[in-house]
Amino acid sequence: MNGDLIIRSARIEGVPALADIDIAAGNIARVGEQLPAHGRPELDVDGRLVSPAFVEPHIHLDKVGTLPLLGGNRSGTLAEAIEILHRIKRSSSVDEVAARAGTVIRQAVLAGTTRIRSHVDVDTVGGLTPLRGVLRAAREHADVCDIQIVAFPQEGIVRDPGTADLMDAAIREGADVVGGMPHWETDEESAREHIEICMRLAQRHDADIDMHVDESDNPDSRTLAMVIDATLAHGWQGRVTAGHCCAMAAWPDDYAAEVIRRAAQARMNFVTNPATNLLLQGRLDREPRRRGLPRVKELLAAGLPVACGQDCVQDGFYPFGSADQLQVALILCHAAQLSLPDEIDAALASIRQAAARVLGVRGYGLQPGSTADLIVLDTDDMREALRLQAARRWVIRRGVVVAATSTTSTITRSQHQEQSAPTTGG
Ligand SMILES: [Zn+2]
Repeated sequence: MNGDLIIRSARIEGVPALADIDIAAGNIARVGEQLPAHGRPELDVDGRLVSPAFVEPHIHLDKVGTLPLLGGNRSGTLAEAIEILHRIKRSSSVDEVAARAGTVIRQAVLAGTTRIRSHVDVDTVGGLTPLRGVLRAAREHADVCDIQIVAFPQEGIVRDPGTADLMDAAIREGADVVGGMPHWETDEESAREHIEICMRLAQRHDADIDMHVDESDNPDSRTLAMVIDATLAHGWQGRVTAGHCCAMAAWPDDYAAEVIRRAAQARMNFVTNPATNLLLQGRLDREPRRRGLPRVKELLAAGLPVACGQDCVQDGFYPFGSADQLQVALILCHAAQLSLPDEIDAALASIRQAAARVLGVRGYGLQPGSTADLIVLDTDDMREALRLQAARRWVIRRGVVVAATSTTSTITRSQHQEQSAPTTGG
């Protein structure tokens, strides 16, 4: 559903004067001062900042909202999280998965996200039920959000016989991207085989690849190098994303530098999930603790795209999360110590341009010809939007307003306090 709209008096990053944005059939036609009316509907944003809408590159919509069903993870261990996960996967229906996913999709849209990439478990525990649930939720929200699905072998491929065929079936049923998790296999040889199976599947279906890589504190978890080798060997450069990559933090510096150099050769994309991994990784460390993040600054310095994702919302791994990418970007700033102006801009790119690149979005931005997926923020400055977690006043998808938020906050004071307040100065 594409719309026509003129946005009046918009603040645009890097543009000194307020501008109008003319949207025709879902695309930005012109950006300029005092554009003619054309009879299109108009939205006066009164000097507020207009940004390209946020992109969520890594979430698990099949698992969101599952935590309350089983009373929570009491031990806080990965083992209990997996136990909870299996019970839910065995018992959930397509309708239940779709309902839980739908709630979070609507939260994401309200927070300014119009494109989501979701990993969905494909394995012999839950079969294709999680996929079918998320596919249904995606169809039910097709008017407000684009959703890509990654067929994700949460239980491994070599160690969960039957999964490779299920992944192939998942792609034929509507999954877009081949997932993976090589470090979950039991040995190095199986990890390499896992990656080969994913590569062949991706080539058979002309699909991109997005793997969970080295989500571990173990400095010997080194499957990223294997993923890079396979990407170069199969000529899949620019089509492979590595998510999590927590072990990178524990690697020796010289090894990390060499892997990052080769990652640039393979034109890899990276996704860090700072909220979940700050909570999960390093739990068994005594001080100092590993932070569980990839080497964000070193990846950025190598020119590699670094996106960030919510990963989990209220599941056995993570009890928080509100599918708000502006919140995730702020957590990333703290986790990866991004505080200089350029670094803050990189954090803002991690939920915008870099995340759009992970999803392979064409026409992302505010230039004429871009798809008109936009957010109007209750501020006139993007770094301030991050600091203050500014309200997403309107969310626009393909020229149609799909969400609106209004907030009013007021300091209330009694007459007495007003009069007796101490004066300053003089
Ligand atoms: Zn994940």
